[in-house]
Amino acid sequence: MSIISDSLKRIKPSPTIAVTQKARELRAAGKDVIGLGAGEPDFDTPDNVKNAAIKAIKSGDTKYTAVDGTPALKKAIIAKFKRENKLSYSADQITVGTGGKQVLYNAFMSTLNKGDEVIIPAPFWVSYPDMVLLAGGKPKIVKCTEQEGFKLTASKLRKAITKKTKWLILNSPSNPTGAGYTKKEIEDLAKVLIKNKKVHILSDDIYEHIKYDNFNFYTIAQNSKLKVRTLTMNGVSKSYAMTGWRIGYAAGPKDIIKAIGKIQSQSTSNPSSISQAAAVEALNGNQGFIKKRSKAFKERRDFVVKSLNNIKGINCLTPNGAFYVFPSCKGLLNKKTKLKTDTDFVQKLLEKSNVAVVQGSAFGLDGYFRISYATSMQNLKKAMDRIRSFCEGLS
Ligand code: PLP
Repeated sequence: MSIISDSLKRIKPSPTIAVTQKARELRAAGKDVIGLGAGEPDFDTPDNVKNAAIKAIKSGDTKYTAVDGTPALKKAIIAKFKRENKLSYSADQITVGTGGKQVLYNAFMSTLNKGDEVIIPAPFWVSYPDMVLLAGGKPKIVKCTEQEGFKLTASKLRKAITKKTKWLILNSPSNPTGAGYTKKEIEDLAKVLIKNKKVHILSDDIYEHIKYDNFNFYTIAQNSKLKVRTLTMNGVSKSYAMTGWRIGYAAGPKDIIKAIGKIQSQSTSNPSSISQAAAVEALNGNQGFIKKRSKAFKERRDFVVKSLNNIKGINCLTPNGAFYVFPSCKGLLNKKTKLKTDTDFVQKLLEKSNVAVVQGSAFGLDGYFRISYATSMQNLKKAMDRIRSFCEGLS
């Protein structure tokens, strides 16, 4: 009999982390691999944030803190929601965890009973379904097509809701597509949810600050009728290039916030005291970094989208935000190329051309692949040349 628990057998390791690891190994073996698999900004954490952490160490902020966040960080988070989203919260409606990932994990662990359903629009961030499964819930995947801009529609949402639905997950701008929901699109979904009265909404806003072309970010808690049923998750990882610091947070109903804190108190306790001090500076300090970085990302996005659309057999939508594109490779899956699936495409691309990307099926939609353009222009130019030569060589 295996020592491994049944609940762990329900899940698989993150495929995006697996691709990044594979690229690392190939590079260590001497191959000139370009990794476009990782979901993290290549920029360095801003200096004011680093200095705040150094100051925290020197002044002895090195002890346990309140389990779900220091009063100073909660205050900074409350101010952020007010300033940027026009949302008011009190300290007991805020929780801080070791990355947005832990906040989401704790939210599912503390709210799902066996068989509870969670609606997950696909393409989705790879961790949602596995977190739900680990917590004993049932992921209800709703496929959103390229023609729909990879976004959930009101009619698909209506059809997906059952008596067992506990949560709907919304992620805008999205990982892996970069698609952002407009206010109108969110309000269309809101109408369905208001009618339904029961379903809670988990809004993953982690890419809020990475957006282009004057896209107006709108989050569902801004609908006053739904705020009481919405847990809004955000963090400093992507916005301030702080992935390694591990600070994420959420705002929402007091009972859920309290339950999340209870799990955290019996698992990891507080997130790092030093990282929390750094996050206070990220949220309260000069926000110039966000604008500067978005400009660089936009340049890369434009280059990548244009390059991909110039390749026969590839089609790529222009995303509103995040640092991913999600092109279709369906035009290259046929008898002539001997490629049947997106996984075949991605594996051959790595084998033959040393470019690491992630297959769309890992995100719940076949026939696509995800490119992260959070890398230098020089790398992107090399990668696009290789992808073009690879695709042209197929037919
Ligand atoms: N949500 C989405 C959509 C993500 O892409 C990520 C990270 O890749 C996270 C949440 C979690 O980020 P972190 O745990 O670094 O805060």
